[in-house]
Amino acid sequence: MKEPLFLKSAEEIKTMLSLDAPFQGKIIKENLVKGITDFSQMTSLPKKTRERLTGSALSSKVLERRDSESSVKLLIELSDGLKIEAVRLSDGKERYTACLSSQVGCAMGCSFCKTGTMGFIRNLSAGEIVEEFVHLEKLGEKISHIVFMGMGEALVNFTNVLDAISVFHDRNAFDISHRRITISTSGYVPGIRELTELKIPVKLAVSLVSANDRIRSKIMRINRTYPLGELKDALISFQRKGGKRITLEYCMLKDINTDKESAREVAHFARGLDVLVNLIPWNPIDDMPYSTPSEKEAVQFDKELRKFGINTSFRRSKGRDINGACGQLATEN
Ligand code: SF4
Repeated sequence: MKEPLFLKSAEEIKTMLSLDAPFQGKIIKENLVKGITDFSQMTSLPKKTRERLTGSALSSKVLERRDSESSVKLLIELSDGLKIEAVRLSDGKERYTACLSSQVGCAMGCSFCKTGTMGFIRNLSAGEIVEEFVHLEKLGEKISHIVFMGMGEALVNFTNVLDAISVFHDRNAFDISHRRITISTSGYVPGIRELTELKIPVKLAVSLVSANDRIRSKIMRINRTYPLGELKDALISFQRKGGKRITLEYCMLKDINTDKESAREVAHFARGLDVLVNLIPWNPIDDMPYSTPSEKEAVQFDKELRKFGINTSFRRSKGRDINGACGQLATEN
């Protein structure tokens, strides 16, 4: 199995690739963060080394690319043959965001999410996560923001996600501010608490979906282990210890979570927290027992939340047409 070179020291790369000296390992890392991933194009390496090290320096490869107006989705094959997806989103104003996967599949089994139907296969290593970003940047635009909203529950693969973030943040690598990195969670309370203790100033997004324990437990299994009260306590601690505004991702499901009572429950949950509720109409997925609310139903729900003084953002989901929107990433492994 080919190992990713990110997060390896120059000495380790020297050993892995039988190089003459550690500084050649450093040269390879410098090339990789610039998007030069083919050994033959690393002209600062001695010619004989380049000739010996043929092919790509990445452990993963892009199998397929699908474009829509505002997003590009890549199907990536890992060195053990498993497949993941990563998406580059554009806001139309030259701001590009990488939506990264943190696991192959996911154990959380949220019933509105396609990844959840795959079950959990394995965690991605930090190097594999960084390679997703490199593949997306090789599409040709500088990426300024990162969201962990692809396949997997990022806070369950906490150590590897944080190691990858250290590379994204490193001034000598991708130099992306923590404030431009968002970790999304289904509400995995131990992970939120760990993040709180570490005080790494990344942004946090929580997939709320419902602020009613009975409904949320039906839709998201995690709520049976960490119900709303525990989740809210963890979010209050996160903000008391310096965490900034939290985004509550609210996937709108027709006739399930978009009535007045649901808005009242969300307002109750949000009390005492600084949150933005991001309203996302559910993206249709075959064989799932949900429907997308009509524009009118969604707009009305937005209005109800605003009446309670809740800050909302409501946009039609980018990437809908290429199955690259929230909850729609899944691969056949
Ligand atoms: S919504 Fe997130 S946590 Fe839930 S099953 Fe999908 S990928 Fe996993």
